Amino acid sequence: MESMEIALRNIKPAASVALPLDTQLRVVAWQQTIASPVSCTGIGLHSGKPVTLTLRPALANSGYVFIRKDVPEDSRRIPARWDTVTDTAMCTKITNPQGVSVSTIEHVIAALAGCDIHNAIIELDGPEVPVMDGSSSEFVDMIRQASTRQQRQPVRRLKVLKTVEVKVGKATAILKPSDEPKFSMQFNANGRLGNQAWSFNYYPDQDDFSDLLSSARTFGFYEDAQHLWAQGLAQGASLENAVIIKDGKVMNEEGLRFSDEFVRHKILDAIGDLALAGAPILGHFYGENSGHGLNNQLLRALFADESAWSF
Ligand SMILES: [Zn+2]
Repeated sequence: MESMEIALRNIKPAASVALPLDTQLRVVAWQQTIASPVSCTGIGLHSGKPVTLTLRPALANSGYVFIRKDVPEDSRRIPARWDTVTDTAMCTKITNPQGVSVSTIEHVIAALAGCDIHNAIIELDGPEVPVMDGSSSEFVDMIRQASTRQQRQPVRRLKVLKTVEVKVGKATAILKPSDEPKFSMQFNANGRLGNQAWSFNYYPDQDDFSDLLSSARTFGFYEDAQHLWAQGLAQGASLENAVIIKDGKVMNEEGLRFSDEFVRHKILDAIGDLALAGAPILGHFYGENSGHGLNNQLLRALFADESAWSF
């Protein structure tokens, strides 16, 4: 395929996003859900099969709950929480006690968390969230279309009281105490790409999440994709839903959406992964080449130490 070739090693890290002065005033105090149901249809990244997803309003304090409409009623409910995560090899997968699972939950959860939706039902007629364009932007559009409803329950925040760190090989994930919710990442795909660094001062303003992070797409290496396809995996992956890199160059004709799209996507993934804590985190997440597996291990390490957090 003809491709617009972009030298990835020339990409410079972007500056941190400036924090506005009125951050404290912009904190959402009350829980929110969506006001009306809204649906989309797409294909699963790994299955390549069509699936319809519907976001529905949910009760206060219920969090994010997936419903698999294609399985019997007594086993279709799968809460999206750090302790229901069962696989993080290529995406985040959650499983309920009956053994029913949903894969690739991270981008829809990131969209909900990024738009300050605390409670939602995510209904599916298959085992995998549709990949859409490989980012969270279509889910953000759906949430806007549905609009937001405030609920009569205060937002509980999970305050990080002491630093928790997990490491695997050259990857690190850290949560530190901070009065500002913040996500920082350094990323070079373990040396396969040039260094990119980014920091997102998260405060509840969905325009910023939407403008800066939600459209950053998932990405992969052509050589790895060939290997996965040969094993019957990543059947839905294409240039329409992922940035694909071959010999250090972007294969997608349209190029990148941001010069540092990879590290922005890694932060988007981290926002989705950490939203499984069950409450917005008041702390600073810092990752170095951290992915779904390590992000989940970080939450497990946090909750394993009762002196490290409080609500
Ligand atoms: Zn992702």
